[in-house]
Amino acid sequence: MRELARLKDEVLRIAKTGYSEGLFKGTSGNLSARDPASGLVVITPTSLPYDTMTSDDLVVIATDGRVVDGTRKPSSEWKMHVMVYRGREDVFAVFHTHSPYATSFAVLRKTIPPVLIEMIPFIGGDIPLAEFALPGSEELGACVLKALEGRGACLLTNHGVVAVGASPHEAYLRAVYVEDAATIYHHALAVGTPCLVPEDAIRKMRS
Ligand SMILES: [Zn+2]
Repeated sequence: MRELARLKDEVLRIAKTGYSEGLFKGTSGNLSARDPASGLVVITPTSLPYDTMTSDDLVVIATDGRVVDGTRKPSSEWKMHVMVYRGREDVFAVFHTHSPYATSFAVLRKTIPPVLIEMIPFIGGDIPLAEFALPGSEELGACVLKALEGRGACLLTNHGVVAVGASPHEAYLRAVYVEDAATIYHHALAVGTPCLVPEDAIRKMRS
C-alpha cells in the first residue's frame, strides 16, 4: 500500500502540473499509473476540479474496473487506460490531454510528421492519429493501442492526445513534447512548407 500511496502523490502532482500548464481545461484530461507489483491502477477521478483535488480523491482500480480504494468514481476513460496497460507491458503511466495545438491536428485528422529532432527519442517518430471512437468506450482503447504501436504518444481523432511512459513523469514529458512539436509544426506551416528530419538520421537515432 505504501507504493500505491507514493503513486497517488505522483499522479496528483503531475495531473495538477498538466492542468496548470494548460494541457487540458476544466475537469477534462486524465492520468493514471500502474503499480508494477500489484497491477492495480491509480487514476484521477471523473468530473472533479484539479486545483482542489487531493490524493484522497484519486481512485485505485483493478484492470476490470473494480474500485479497490477511494470514494470517487474513476475517470470516464478508465477503459482506455486499462486497455493500454493490458496491451503494453512496458507502459506504467497513461496521460490523456486536450492540449490545443496537438488537438487542432486531431480535429484536422492529420498526423504530425517527424519535424523535430526531439520527436525521435521521445515519441519514436511521427505522432500518429488513432481512429475515431466514442469517449469512454473500449473501442477507443483499441484504437489508441493500435496507434501507439512503436510510439510513446498519439492523437485521438476529434478529441485530444494520449501519451504513455514508464512513469507519470515520462508520460507528462511526452505530452509536453507532443504539444511542443504540434505548436512548432503549426507555426512552420503558417509560413512555408516544413521539412522533415532526414530518414537516415531517424534510423541512426533509433539504433
Ligand atoms: Zn478527453
